[in-house]
Amino acid sequence: MTNPLVIGNWKMNLLTAPACELAQSLVDRLSDARGVEVVIAPPFTSLYSVSQIVKGSPLGLAGQNFHYKSAGAYTGEVALEMLKDVGCNFSLIGHSERRSLFGETDEGVNKKIHHAMGLGILPIVCVGETLEQRNAGETLTTIESQLSIGLTGLSPEEKTRLVIAYEPVWAIGTGVNATPEQVVDVHKFIRKYLIESLGFSEEIGVRILYGGSVNPENSKQLLKEKEIDGALVGGASLNLESFCAIINSAIEP
Ligand code: PEP
Repeated sequence: MTNPLVIGNWKMNLLTAPACELAQSLVDRLSDARGVEVVIAPPFTSLYSVSQIVKGSPLGLAGQNFHYKSAGAYTGEVALEMLKDVGCNFSLIGHSERRSLFGETDEGVNKKIHHAMGLGILPIVCVGETLEQRNAGETLTTIESQLSIGLTGLSPEEKTRLVIAYEPVWAIGTGVNATPEQVVDVHKFIRKYLIESLGFSEEIGVRILYGGSVNPENSKQLLKEKEIDGALVGGASLNLESFCAIINSAIEP
């Protein structure tokens, strides 16, 4: 069984100095943490400095987004090769803020996943429904469509290197988390769909994280569910004590 994975998505927050301070505190706190994998996703501008701090520590480094091309005339974009160059071994792909604010599509997500696979970067692919879709009873069909287009064309080996983050859009940054029951229902659906329709291995399995207003008050209840393999944490990952409390609840569910 793989360890739970807890990812801190810092979004567009923290200048270099406070980013390094938070990363250093996490490295110090996690030096003897066992039974959990922890990754942080700082903004691009602090990635290099933070990478110098996490180097040699158990703390992993993720990009929040990248362009699916390796180089070229794409003003304002960042290549995954550049993220790898500064020490990233993971990247978020298709976060709902990328989808809703920057027009990211499932087809674009698919291109990025293939690019990440080719570079040996572990893709953390975000899926989830809006409140309107949930209220219309379209939660599972929405997720099915995101997965079927987003994960097209992966080899059996690549399918073993994928992490899914189920993040209901209505729960991100709102303070309203999905209940453990709601999350378990969707995670079960995702697992079944990946195995039965997309040919994922049942034996190897795929890690499915939950994200959406995870905090120290709800993390224990969520992470004790065996269907929930970890958490993608936004706001609460910017606070050392909150993030460490969430990490601890993944270790001792
Ligand atoms: C996120 O950024 O993926 C997220 C889940 O944010 P928050 O924890 O703030 O809801």
